[in-house]
Amino acid sequence: MPSFRDLLKAAKGEIVEIDPAEAETRLGRATFLDVRELDEFEQGAIPGAVFLPRGHLESKIENQISDRATPIVIYCASGVRSVFAAKTLGELGYTDVVHMAGGFSRWKDQGRPWITPATLSPEQRNRYHRHILLPEVGEEGQQKLLEAKVLLLGAGGLGSPAALYLAAAGVGTLGIVDMDVVDASNLQRQILHNMERVGERKVDSAKKTLTAINPDVDVVTYDVRFGADNILDIIDGYDVIVDGTDNFPTRYLLNDASLLKRIPVVHGSIFRFEGQVTVFDPYNGPCYRCLLPEPPPPELAPSCAEAGVLGVLPGIIGSIQALEAIKIILDLGEPLRGRLLAYDALEQSFRSFKVRRDPSCPACGENAQIVIAEYDDLCMPHPIAPPEAD
Ligand SMILES: [Zn+2]
Repeated sequence: MPSFRDLLKAAKGEIVEIDPAEAETRLGRATFLDVRELDEFEQGAIPGAVFLPRGHLESKIENQISDRATPIVIYCASGVRSVFAAKTLGELGYTDVVHMAGGFSRWKDQGRPWITPATLSPEQRNRYHRHILLPEVGEEGQQKLLEAKVLLLGAGGLGSPAALYLAAAGVGTLGIVDMDVVDASNLQRQILHNMERVGERKVDSAKKTLTAINPDVDVVTYDVRFGADNILDIIDGYDVIVDGTDNFPTRYLLNDASLLKRIPVVHGSIFRFEGQVTVFDPYNGPCYRCLLPEPPPPELAPSCAEAGVLGVLPGIIGSIQALEAIKIILDLGEPLRGRLLAYDALEQSFRSFKVRRDPSCPACGENAQIVIAEYDDLCMPHPIAPPEAD
């Protein structure tokens, strides 16, 4: 019967060993795989390391690292568990695996870079379990969502589903701008609110609903008119803006401010039975003025209040906006950058149109000069002075 020493010696004969100095030169190029237990990992780890305890290695490695040609540096605390882990990965067909001698303790003793990883609490691990199961999200992605800040313009038809799903997904900070009160006529589509809240400030009603869904979320409310005088202060520091506004002056104002601050905007709009979604990613794709240099004449663009809207429609469009915001935060898939997704509820069809950046765009073009100013109801190109604050 072979002893532990015999097994270790045999395993070492089958794997490649490098020392921490050599391993450090591979930071950023190779995937560092930490096979210790959670309590060890939480106390300190190599920056960017993928965490997968030895006990789950065989069953979960394909989820964590699907490409078997990925260069992998395995480490544990002292360099024993990692020997067997490296041997196992070789047997599973991983072709470029090395183990780091001395493990994390030698790495740390030698003064090499390490961090205390932000980890999820047991409650969070349970709450976000379906996210964590997705290798494209995982604990790291969930952590990103918890650290992300999304600003919602409007707690109405589009803002309601967007806010509900973003809160449920664990986006850590949700800002909401709205200066309206809840009216019974809102409840046909604005599912953040309810009968008990009629007459209440919409931002307060939204905050109650969202906090009840997920106490992880910090809801920051802005019960103000969104204007040239406050827009730059309000949007500052947000990672993504979800635009649920329903008027052209605000959309142009938001466009210009988001270009200045370089914050991507997930734009949504609804009209009767149709909706549209696109992403304006400053200078990486078209902006709102590239798409629509001038607003349509008012008789062709009545607001929701005048034209009516089917109640489920904002639920679909606002949910797509939430999804796009999450994709941007997680750098996942292809956001609707340079593409306009148009939805027709009566046909039950989606169509997608290319939108190109306009080199002579007055806002994001080469010689553009961005002026943050109020526009009148017709969005005429001449700015008017912002109204006096009262
Ligand atoms: Zn533009």
